[in-house]
Amino acid sequence: MSIVVQKFGGTSVASAAHIENVARKILKTIANGDQVVVVVSAMGDQTDRLDSLAKEIDFYEPASRRELDVLLSTGEQVTIAALAMTLMKLGCPAKSFTGRQAGIQTDASHTRARIINIDTTRLRASLASGKVPVVAGFQGVDDGGNITTFGRGGSDTTAVALAAVLQARECQIFTDVSGVHTTDPRVVDTARLLEKVTFEEMLELASLGSRVLHSRAVEFASKYEVPLRVLSSFEEGPGTLITSEEDSDMEQVIIAGIAFTREQAKLTVLGVSDVPGVAWKILGPVSEANIEVDMIVQNVAADNTTDFTFTVGRDNYQEAMDILKKVANDIGAREVTGDDKIAKLSMVGVGMRSHAGVASRMFEVLAEKAINIQMISTSEIKISVVIAEEYLELAARALHTAFDLGEKGS
Ligand code: ADP
Ligand code: ASP
Ligand code: MG
Repeated sequence: MSIVVQKFGGTSVASAAHIENVARKILKTIANGDQVVVVVSAMGDQTDRLDSLAKEIDFYEPASRRELDVLLSTGEQVTIAALAMTLMKLGCPAKSFTGRQAGIQTDASHTRARIINIDTTRLRASLASGKVPVVAGFQGVDDGGNITTFGRGGSDTTAVALAAVLQARECQIFTDVSGVHTTDPRVVDTARLLEKVTFEEMLELASLGSRVLHSRAVEFASKYEVPLRVLSSFEEGPGTLITSEEDSDMEQVIIAGIAFTREQAKLTVLGVSDVPGVAWKILGPVSEANIEVDMIVQNVAADNTTDFTFTVGRDNYQEAMDILKKVANDIGAREVTGDDKIAKLSMVGVGMRSHAGVASRMFEVLAEKAINIQMISTSEIKISVVIAEEYLELAARALHTAFDLGEKGS
């Protein structure tokens, strides 16, 4: 008998009725002859609500990050019990497992922990005794037994990691759209469902903001060769297969998709002396404060001074600004400026390797819409731009049309 790991996201388990729908899907898979290990997210927007509670308390000292994980992990604990009870009600033996009970051991980086080992003894015993294991997503425990979480969207990673260690036939990520699309279908209504996408492209799309899969889940699936599929909890359909093969059709496609990250902020230190060590002096204190820095640009020096710009998540803007003002003073920089209403938009495709001209066409389309590009960064298979957040949706739609990514005829 082969094992299938099925993961259901927040919208898919938002109410008792939704949970019953999920339970029936699981029963169908079992009836088809597979053993199922289930992973679930918190119900609806419960994680957002728990996060808001923490924000209201507003105490972000290092010691409080442990407590934040204890708080955030409770959402998933509710769902595992509710789904296990529903499965039992429908006549299917089931048993809930928190991250710790499922044997998921992580490092100690609270709110962004990484899985280091999974002891599957209890999950395998549950399967052997005919009880469907229902595992809480996005959580584990560190060496000291402290609860850890994996970062927003991290239940996908629980599912893929379990699929890897249990050598599952497939890891199925059930969500509220029919699969991975050319861009977020809630923003661009002509977004097209992709039948297949490569791990490489999916990893870029996920890291650049396509919420549909957690980037670490894609990383894991690629590393351990876990067949990974994204499909809808609400309608039948094949969904999207994430695959390592680039078939001949896929090579023809230059752009696989468009991803974006909202709620970004940019900070610039103006008039910095152009001497060795300055980047470190600016970014060192920012990283010590546990603030993640994304894009970094340093201008060519004129008059022995230069400007240094980088982006952070909007939540970290004020703290980063406070740190920089102090640093600017210490290193004799002229001024610190910032903008907390920016977003990052990226185009991704393995076809970019063999096709020139994507960047210039992208810039042309943005120019036609009079959208100013504030920063640019490129790699072999992606181009990212930072623009004002108010133009993000306009830019995504214009690029989607210009690159002909939608359904034919749309
Ligand atoms: P879940 O709670 O099931 O994990 P998420 O909200 O994390 O669901 O991810 C699904 C959402 O991802 C969709 O509702 C959609 O708005 C968004 N999304 C962003 N980019 C894409 C894309 N390229 N394809 C499909 N969905 C996308
Ligand atoms: N509940 C967590 C979140 O909302 C984890 C997840 O759903 O993947 O981010
Ligand atoms: Mg998700």
